Amino acid sequence: MRDADFFRRWMDAVAAVVEREADRLTELDSPIGDADHGSNLLRGFAAVRAALEAQSPGTPGAVLQLAGRTLISTVGGASGPLYGTLLRRTGKELGDAAEVSDEDLRKALYAGVGAVAQLGGAAPGDKTMLDALVPGVAALATSYRAAGEAAQNGALATVPLQARKGRASYLGERSIGHQDPGATSSALLLGALAEVSEARG
Ligand code: ADP
Ligand code: MG
Repeated sequence: MRDADFFRRWMDAVAAVVEREADRLTELDSPIGDADHGSNLLRGFAAVRAALEAQSPGTPGAVLQLAGRTLISTVGGASGPLYGTLLRRTGKELGDAAEVSDEDLRKALYAGVGAVAQLGGAAPGDKTMLDALVPGVAALATSYRAAGEAAQNGALATVPLQARKGRASYLGERSIGHQDPGATSSALLLGALAEVSEARG
C-alpha cells in the first residue's frame, strides 16, 4: 500500500527531474512552441514542493489535489491547467483513504488522463502529452517501470507526428520532425513514479 509520504516523494522526484531537464524541455518547446515548457514546469513543481512542505497533506488524495491546484495557480501555459487537472482528478479519485493500492492508483490515473483529454480536446496521435500519458497509464497494469518506458516510447513516437492541438498546431506540417515537449515531460512524470516505487522496494 502507498501512503501520503509515497506521493510526496513522487512529487519531489518530479520536481528534481524537472530541475535537471528544464533546459531540454525548453529547447524542445522552441522550434514548435514558445520556449517556456521547462521554465513553466520548474516554477510549477517548485511551488508544489513548497506547498506540500507548508501544508503537509495527510492522505494520497490530498497530496495530489494540492499539487494539482498549485500547478493550476502557478503555471500560465497550457501545461499548468492540463497537469493540474491530471493530478487533481487523480487525487479526487483516490478519495480520503490514508493508504491506497497500486490498483487504486492505476484506476485513478486512468481517470486523471481522461480528464486531461476532456479538458484539452486532444486524442493520442495529436502530438501532445497524451501520446505519453495514454500508453504510460495503460502499461501500469504491468508495472511502474513498464509505464515509464511506455511513456518514454510514446514521447519519442511524437517526432514524426503533425501537431493537431496546442501552440505547435499553428505550425501545421512544420511541426513534423520535432519531439513534443509535453509528451517528454509526461514521460518524466511517470519515470519518477517508477523511480520512487523501486526505491521503496
Ligand atoms: P504553452 O503551449 O501554453 O506554452 P507549455 O509550453 O508549458 O504551454 O506546454 C506545451 C505542451 O502542452 C505541449 O507540448 C503539449 O504536450 C501540451 N498541450 C498543449 N495543448 C494541449 C492539449 N489541448 N491537450 C493536451 N496537451 C496539450
Ligand atoms: Mg510553451
